[in-house]
Amino acid sequence: MTIAPNSHLADGLTGAIGGTPLIKLRLASAATGCTILGKAEFMNPGGSVKDRAALAMIDAAEASGALKPGGTIVEGTAGNTGIGLTLVANARGYRAVIVMPETQSQEKIDFLRMIGADLRLVPAKPYKDPGNYVRVSQRIAEETGAFWANQFDNTDNREGHRLTTGAEIWRQTGGVIDAFTCACGTGGTLAGVGMALKAHKPDVRIVLADPDGSALYDWVKTGQLTSSGSSISEGIGQGRVTANLAGAPIDDAVRVHDTAMLEQVFDLMIHEGLSIGGSAGINVAAAIAVARDLGPGHTIVTILCDGAARYQSKLFNPTFLASKNLPAPPWMV
Ligand code: PMP
Repeated sequence: MTIAPNSHLADGLTGAIGGTPLIKLRLASAATGCTILGKAEFMNPGGSVKDRAALAMIDAAEASGALKPGGTIVEGTAGNTGIGLTLVANARGYRAVIVMPETQSQEKIDFLRMIGADLRLVPAKPYKDPGNYVRVSQRIAEETGAFWANQFDNTDNREGHRLTTGAEIWRQTGGVIDAFTCACGTGGTLAGVGMALKAHKPDVRIVLADPDGSALYDWVKTGQLTSSGSSISEGIGQGRVTANLAGAPIDDAVRVHDTAMLEQVFDLMIHEGLSIGGSAGINVAAAIAVARDLGPGHTIVTILCDGAARYQSKLFNPTFLASKNLPAPPWMV
C-alpha cells in the first residue's frame, strides 16, 4: 500500500479541509485526446467544495471581530455551505442557523439535521422576493445580532478559493493547464480559481459551465442576464452578478443540459467508480466540450463539487427522473 503524497496529520476538522486529489478522468481524456482532471472536492470532510468557502469566511470573520467566541453564524444556502459552516461551527464552539429552500435534496436536509444545524426550511422564492432564503437569512442575522456569512457577496469566499483551490490546482498540474471549467452558485470557486490561475498564466482559458435556467451563460456571451428552461442540478445557476463574480476573469461559457450532465454522472459512476453530484457532472461535460474545442494534447481541469450520495433520491431515482423526462441510470432500469 502507498500513502498519497498529500496525506498529512490534520489538527482537527479544519486541518482536513482542502488538499484534495486531482483525479485523471480516463474516459473523458481518452474520448478527447486531452488530459481532463477533476479536483475531488467531494473528499472534503463535509463532502463538498463549500467546506473551503465556509472555513475562509469564518476565519475572516474571526479575524475582523465580526464573529465572537460562542457566537452564532447565519446563512442562506442550497445546503453544502450550510454543512461546511455547521461542521466548522461545531469544531470551534459556534451555533449555526441554516436557511435553505425546501426544494433541495432530502439527503442534504437530513445531513444538516444530523450535524446539529438549526435548520429553517423556506419555500423556494426568487431573489427579489423578501421570502427568498438569502433574504430570510440576512433578516435573521440582523434581528439576532448574529454573523451573516453572506456567501454570495462576501468575497472572503472567492479569496479562500484563490488561496487554496486555485493554488493547489496550479501546484498539482505543475502549471501544465490550458483551461478550467466550473459552474457557479456564488461564483466563489470560478472567480477564485480563475484569479489564481491567471496570475500565473494569463492565457489559461477560464470557462463558465452553466445549467439551463441560469442567466450567466447569456451574461458571459452577450452581457445580458437572461435565462430559460430549468435544471435538476442543485447549488448552481445564478440570476445576478454576485460580488464574488464581479470582475472574475471569465473567457467563455458552455451551456450544459441535464441529459449531458446525467451521462457524465452515470458514466463516471459505473465505468470509473467515481460518485459525483449534478454540478460536477455539468463541470465534466463542459470540460469535454472545451477539450473538443481546443483539440488533442491539452490539459483541462474541472471541479468535482460533491458526491452522488447527496442526490441519491433524485439523480439515481428512476421515478423522479421519469417525471422530468430524463433518462435513468442504465443499470437501474
Ligand atoms: N456545486 C454544488 C453542489 C454546490 O453546492 C455549489 C455551491 N452552492 C456549487 C457547485 C457552486 O460553487 P460556488 O458557490 O463556489 O459557485
